Parts: sequence; C-alpha cells; structure tokens
Amino acid sequence: MRVRVQELIGRPGQSERLQRAIDPAELVPPDTDDVRWDPPGATIAGQLEPDLRLESVVDGILVRGTVDVDLVMACSRCLEEIVDEATVELAELFHDPRRLEVADYQEGEDYLVEHDLVHLELGRALRDALTLVVPSRPLCREDCAGLCVVCGADRNVTDCGHGDEDVADPRWAKLGDLELDDD
Ligand SMILES: [Zn+2]
Ligand SMILES: [Zn+2]
Repeated sequence: MRVRVQELIGRPGQSERLQRAIDPAELVPPDTDDVRWDPPGATIAGQLEPDLRLESVVDGILVRGTVDVDLVMACSRCLEEIVDEATVELAELFHDPRRLEVADYQEGEDYLVEHDLVHLELGRALRDALTLVVPSRPLCREDCAGLCVVCGADRNVTDCGHGDEDVADPRWAKLGDLELDDD
C-alpha cells in the first residue's frame, strides 16, 4: 500500500497522520496475485485501524505509531477459533534514497521512500510487524485442556472417560512429552 509523502520529504519537522482503515487486500505483496494478505498462522478479521504519524526527518520519513488488528487463529491445543485483538507497534525509518549510500542499503532490511520521492510503500513494514505479533502457540485460555489423544474429544467440554492411565499408555508416551513441551 502506497502512501503519498511528496509534501513531506525533504521538509524536516513536517508531519502527517495516517488513520484511515487499511484492508488486508492492500497488504498483498506487489509480485503476487493474491486477493488479500494475512500473517502466517492467523487471518485478519475486518480491517486494520492505524494511528500512525509520518514525520519528515533529515534522513527520510519516520513512520511511528500503532495499528490495531483483530486476528482470528486456532487454539494450538483444542483447535477452537480464537479472536485476539492485537496492537502492532511500528517505528520505522523510510530512508530518503538521496541520502542513503548504496553500500549501506540492505535489501529486505531497509525501507526506502520510492525513488520518485512521491510515495513510500508501507506494505512490507506492516507485513513484517504483523508477522511478529502472531503467537507461535495461540491458546483459547491458559489452562486449555486440549483434545483427548485417544479419541479426539475436546476435553474442555466433555469427559470422554479416557483417564490419565490411557494417556500414559506407552504408545502415546511421545505425544505426552509433546504436550508437556507446550508449557
Ligand atoms: Zn483451546
Ligand atoms: Zn477420549
């Protein structure tokens, strides 16, 4: 998603706010045909609500603030759907390409204002920040009992009758170890 910065670039001290809602369709990387982008392990519900400030500084444009987003995920133990409100913190310098030495530019690391100095591409910075905010093992609640390893029943809602002695069955010992590793 491109943001116009022509009136800001090269005018340190000037700033603008960015608060319009962002659709997941605007996050699609430029080299793909996808209709929307979601971070690995989650789906974005609705739109992103940014409260960002674009500040002109000597070296470029500083983009700072927060983006509120609702993430839909599956509990890593019981697979129940979870909706988690997340606030993504953003603080990234988009270099003025005239001021960044080519030797210092790191592909995939640095963010640049586009060379025509009219827009900056905010998409990658948002994708990077959103990817980091998704938990690797989302839980519907801290003490989620998970699925029964014998019959697959959701132990949060039913007592399927498979007690701990079944779980301790040597055939399931490896699974039991994995469960312990979760905590
Ligand atoms: Zn759960
Ligand atoms: Zn069971």
